[in-house]
Amino acid sequence: MTTPLDRSATWPHDAAGEPGAYTYARAEQPNVVSVERALGALDGGRALLYPAGMGAVTGVLLTMLPPGGTIALAEGAYYGHGQLFDHLRPWGVDTVEYDQTGPPPSQADLILIEAPSNPMLTMPDFAAAAAHPAPVVCDATLASPLRLRPLELGCDVALHSATKVLAGHDDLIAGVATVADDDLYDRLHLTRRLTGIVASADTAWLLERGLETLEVRLDRMEATARILVDRLAGHPAVTTVRYPGFGFLISFDVADGDAARRVETATNTIVNATSLGGVHAKLESRYRWEGERCPQGLLRLSVGLEDGEVLWADLEQALARA
Ligand code: PLP
Repeated sequence: MTTPLDRSATWPHDAAGEPGAYTYARAEQPNVVSVERALGALDGGRALLYPAGMGAVTGVLLTMLPPGGTIALAEGAYYGHGQLFDHLRPWGVDTVEYDQTGPPPSQADLILIEAPSNPMLTMPDFAAAAAHPAPVVCDATLASPLRLRPLELGCDVALHSATKVLAGHDDLIAGVATVADDDLYDRLHLTRRLTGIVASADTAWLLERGLETLEVRLDRMEATARILVDRLAGHPAVTTVRYPGFGFLISFDVADGDAARRVETATNTIVNATSLGGVHAKLESRYRWEGERCPQGLLRLSVGLEDGEVLWADLEQALARA
């Protein structure tokens, strides 16, 4: 019923001295191949697994950005993307941020959009991005392939932090890049093999198990999120609620940074921790990480599988401290 876990780093050649289906785990690994099949089917392309979402971005960047090239990065997208690109500036990586609800800047050599963005929850203009001559990479971590398939919307790469809802249990770190083009797949695969940005067999196995329940988890989290969005919008301490209309992630604002800190430290069921997409609800003030990139009073709520009324009661008592 499950793919056997194979932790081998290397496999014997056959009696004639020829390599078999698997030779060395940095190149190909049975659990990785197995979960990639499932991920590719979900996204409608050929998937490559990485040891982190950031590993996937790194593999894509090393493969697709020409030396000295410029990345057009969606404003308000996951802050780690901008941090990575800034870190790589000495290697000639140039970044220009742009409002993804409009067209990307003309000088872009690679476009990174996020659907929806984390934590501002804007959606990109897919047609405008696809009309640009540069390749388009879409981070669809928050949507998951069950709500959005970027390859069908003109993107060249669908990217996910599989750490989040794909795995779903906050017990692994992984990333995925899915492409439709065979040549691009081969180039990404070569970069991954040569750089060694490869996920372990255990990670692949656990992720494959997590995928079995993706649909039921997402449906339930989303149904609860819809209820919480309405109630948050009617709460006097909440000034803004952001929700793209689907998915498990909500962001909302209270008066200021101090109020946000009081709310996030007052919850009981909801865990005050970073990350999102897991079975346990999590709430976090983002100002601590992102500074002026987001409002000081912004709280990010990742809805879990808990009973919706329990989550609302917890939020209500915490919001009383705002
Ligand atoms: N993309 C998004 C939207 C994220 O939220 C994150 C992490 O929070 C990442 C990418 C990076 O993924 P990882 O932490 O798996 O490297």
